[in-house]
Amino acid sequence: MAVVSRPDSAPGSAASSGLQEMARRHLWMHFSRMGSYGTDHEIPIIVRGDGCYVYDDHGNRYLDGLSGLFCVNAGHGRTELGEAAARQVEELDFYTLWSYAHPRAIELAARLASLAPGELNRVFFTSGGSESVESALKLARNYHRVLGKGQKHKVIAREIAYHGTSMGALSATGITELRAQFEPLTPGGCHVPNTNLYRWPEDRHPLWAATAIEERIQFEGPETVAAVILEPVQNAGGCFVPPDGYFERVREICDRYDVLMISDEVICAWGRLGHYFGCERFGYVPDIVTVAKALTSAYAPMGAVIASDAVAAPFMEGDASFAHGFTFAGHPLSSAVAVANLDIYEREDLCGHVRATEGEFRQMLETLYDLPIVGDVRGAGFFQAIELVKDRDTKETFSDEESEDLLRGFLSGELYKRGLICRADDRGDPVVQLAPPLIADTEQFEQIHDVLRGVLTEAWERVGKMKTLPASSPARLRRSSL
Ligand code: PLP
Repeated sequence: MAVVSRPDSAPGSAASSGLQEMARRHLWMHFSRMGSYGTDHEIPIIVRGDGCYVYDDHGNRYLDGLSGLFCVNAGHGRTELGEAAARQVEELDFYTLWSYAHPRAIELAARLASLAPGELNRVFFTSGGSESVESALKLARNYHRVLGKGQKHKVIAREIAYHGTSMGALSATGITELRAQFEPLTPGGCHVPNTNLYRWPEDRHPLWAATAIEERIQFEGPETVAAVILEPVQNAGGCFVPPDGYFERVREICDRYDVLMISDEVICAWGRLGHYFGCERFGYVPDIVTVAKALTSAYAPMGAVIASDAVAAPFMEGDASFAHGFTFAGHPLSSAVAVANLDIYEREDLCGHVRATEGEFRQMLETLYDLPIVGDVRGAGFFQAIELVKDRDTKETFSDEESEDLLRGFLSGELYKRGLICRADDRGDPVVQLAPPLIADTEQFEQIHDVLRGVLTEAWERVGKMKTLPASSPARLRRSSL
């Protein structure tokens, strides 16, 4: 896998420090505290990638334990994906899917339909995850409307779940801090408990959270509910896996109340859980799947909504149409890259590799249980989280201030300094999340383990010094109804 290094960003060069200044002055980074960057705190500038690793502008190497942002699943530096894009430019640079089609989008749609379970056969392309979720929510509303049930417009999602940033997707997102500052949101978003099993009382019924969906549908009035949206494994909060039977029960509930089941697989598709689609891992077939990110292994922006034949049917007859679209959706370059990416998946059996090695990865993480700060290790496939606690016996978590100090004041920076990119997140209780490229193996698992062991050991010493701070603050408790 050859990787081309850009000479103008060579380590330590004047151009490299010039980039730093230009970034500080002109680049608006997403979800970033821009004010925190200064002469003593550089913006990390990643200049090249190779396999499971990326390099910064000082020449430092990092294990990309987050696959970019859960998306470079085939690993960095796959020049064949760029070559596929280059070949496509020679043939057709761009054409839109607004009333036209082009070969790569057609081939890709057929390929996705052949990989997707059940009758998920109709593919509506987008340019990314938020667009996919936004489109799926509009499709759900519109589907009911064309069938004469226009009152069905609400969407039920789970607390702390992240479904994107556009206004419709944000109304499904269940993170108060992200929603509050943009309210009022698109009406209709309702939230139910998630499957944070670590924090459930031991005697709680395993299907309690599924039943909560039914109760919410009844409370809202089934004639007003269009869809339930959930991830196979919920990312935000730290890789919440479902209890046995959860999705089977949710499927039954959706069928009973004529509510569409949307599986948001922006992260969980494309091998992250060891299957092309996350729903396959848990044995359910949704009505709509949303994907993006690793569809192209992030070498080109692309997403898709995959709808069942039944959901698509009302739009396929007479003069009906789904009055929705995006200029760049199904872009020929992205489509060509996606096809080439799926060729890599097949050739290298990336899903099979995840299934074969996830046990080893998980075991390596579980050895960290000897550190008192490690409360829970959970997840599926190459999508794992470690929840950090103040007291393992009582599962006491950190106050907002402590979490801020631990995650932003120490962990994020320290992990990066020691060569590991992963996510230290406190949208729920504090977790460290790992999602390496699907080509990762023993060598990378060991590196992840070694860096985490060192950093978490020091983090615990830091916790010892903060023990006088108050326990969980009201803000944290408000985040979910556990
Ligand atoms: N849905 C889920 C489950 C996600 O994890 C994300 C992003 O991480 C999105 C939707 C939004 O995707 P994007 O950032 O591509 O808009």
